[in-house]
Amino acid sequence: MAGQARGKVTIDEEECKGCGLCVESCPPHCIEFTTKLNSCGVHPARYAGTECTACGICFYCCPEPGAITVYRLSPPPKGALAPSGGHHAPAL
Ligand code: SF4
Ligand code: SF4
Repeated sequence: MAGQARGKVTIDEEECKGCGLCVESCPPHCIEFTTKLNSCGVHPARYAGTECTACGICFYCCPEPGAITVYRLSPPPKGALAPSGGHHAPAL
């Protein structure tokens, strides 16, 4: 379902071991593997850039502490014009 992203994630490519649990578990399927290899010789995961809901499932699935950080995108105050991009606050 397309819509405005409510969150975003960052993935540390050197912490990622390429297990794919986050790729398989993300409900809107917004995590994918990169085509390049990291220093461990695996294709790390990355956020595809859209549709994240900040649900945190990828964070809880990941076996590598610190590999994934989830940010919640704050909605604009009621009555205010939506700023482009909004503000990001760490969610997990
Ligand atoms: S927080 Fe949820 S929607 Fe966002 S990338 Fe992780 S699993 Fe997907
Ligand atoms: S769950 Fe963690 S280690 Fe596995 S592919 Fe995703 S970021 Fe990498």
